[in-house]
Amino acid sequence: MADSDRVRELLHAEDAATRRLIATLSSDIKDLSAAREGDNSDDEHDPEGSTLAFERSQADTLLRQSEERLIAIAEAEQRLERGTFGICTLCGNPIPEVRLEIRPYAPTCVACAS
Ligand SMILES: [Zn+2]
Repeated sequence: MADSDRVRELLHAEDAATRRLIATLSSDIKDLSAAREGDNSDDEHDPEGSTLAFERSQADTLLRQSEERLIAIAEAEQRLERGTFGICTLCGNPIPEVRLEIRPYAPTCVACAS
């Protein structure tokens, strides 16, 4: 991927989308916590409570993944500045463009990621 302006654009778009997602998830988690606090019943025996707990843990997982993605995006921007963008950070082989189109922040090639 030689066009660094295009890469920068992709990374910025991904960064903005991830920040929006984090804002949404954070407010969801706050709502879910509030809903659970208003409910004194035992999660284990209350279907409503366990649904809330499940939703909460899913939101937590998504939030963690989103925060990790923000870091990955920042690191990809650094690689772009250093001129090492598009090169697998593990094996040093070029990362296929199709992969970078989907995940411009991917630090490794497909083989190293799996
Ligand atoms: Zn690799």
